Amino acid sequence: MIDLRSDTVTRPSTGMRQAMADAPVGDDVFGDDPTVNAVQQRVAELTGKEAGLFASSGTQTNLLALLSHCQRGDEYLVGQEYHTYRYEAGGAAVLGGIVPQPFEVEADGTLNLQLVEKRIKPDDPHFPITRLLALENTHTGKVIPQQYMLKARKLADKHGLKLHLDGARIFNASVATGLDLAELAAPFDSVSLCFSKGMGTPIGSVLVGSKKLIQRAHRLRKMLGGGMRQAGIIAAAVDYALDHNFDRLADDHANALELASALKGLPGIVVEPAQTNMVYVNFESLEAALNVSDHLRSKDILTARSQRMRLVTHLNVSRSDIEQVVRGFRKALGS
Ligand SMILES: *Cc1c(COP(=O)(O)O)cnc(C)c1O
Repeated sequence: MIDLRSDTVTRPSTGMRQAMADAPVGDDVFGDDPTVNAVQQRVAELTGKEAGLFASSGTQTNLLALLSHCQRGDEYLVGQEYHTYRYEAGGAAVLGGIVPQPFEVEADGTLNLQLVEKRIKPDDPHFPITRLLALENTHTGKVIPQQYMLKARKLADKHGLKLHLDGARIFNASVATGLDLAELAAPFDSVSLCFSKGMGTPIGSVLVGSKKLIQRAHRLRKMLGGGMRQAGIIAAAVDYALDHNFDRLADDHANALELASALKGLPGIVVEPAQTNMVYVNFESLEAALNVSDHLRSKDILTARSQRMRLVTHLNVSRSDIEQVVRGFRKALGS
């Protein structure tokens, strides 16, 4: 199977499994797991932050960040299509009493900062207290320009807001821009990094920020039932991914570029330019998309099943797989 539905389908390699099996472990709720401690410190150092906290998922590290920055009745500013608003089951509101103020996401993946500034509430008992601006990089495969992030930091400082980055795919942003993780993370008070996407671990995310913020997040993680015991067995995969799967994301980006350029011009589809590891293909109708998806499936190629079809490249998709996918599309589209 060539699975283009997501980079979350990546499977742990033999080397990664071996590293997991060999990991020294302890009880991480007691703070005793040497592998977890080392990984938390490594990711904190790589991102230029004081401390890190290992957690089960990116949803959990985002939630921990929102709960750590905001009190009940506080408000966070966020994109309609950003993961922390749309794809986390409303956890910030349900579990934290945090009020979302969503904005339409611009074509380049940013929020309009003038509009954002307009929606920051004055200190008035009628209003929630605007506390946090939550951004995302990459967003739907788009790299957010660092200049924009610096402007967002300025705006946050002007209004005394905290700034969080959902950096689930910050590794892709780093490889695409050549900026290191610390530079990408610099404008932010907290960053959530996800290792179970293109980095290829089975489980694992890390939240980074100040010592104080991570202490709060640590308590909240326990409260959420996210305290894990011999978690070094999964943290070892993160360590392995940083050593072996970070730089190679460039191959995924090259494969996405190749896929986009080979599909471009085929009849009945409009292909959006690829910046990182995602290609979006627009069909004339959902039915047309499903027909192509069905045909590809019969050739052991799995895709999203939507009119704007997302194709994601990752470490279990090779260049020859890409060629096979292109042949499948040509056949399905009758060209
Ligand atoms: C995948 C993802 C997350 C985290 O998702 P989990 O499945 O909970 O690890 C967060 N933000 C974005 C943008 C993502 O794509």
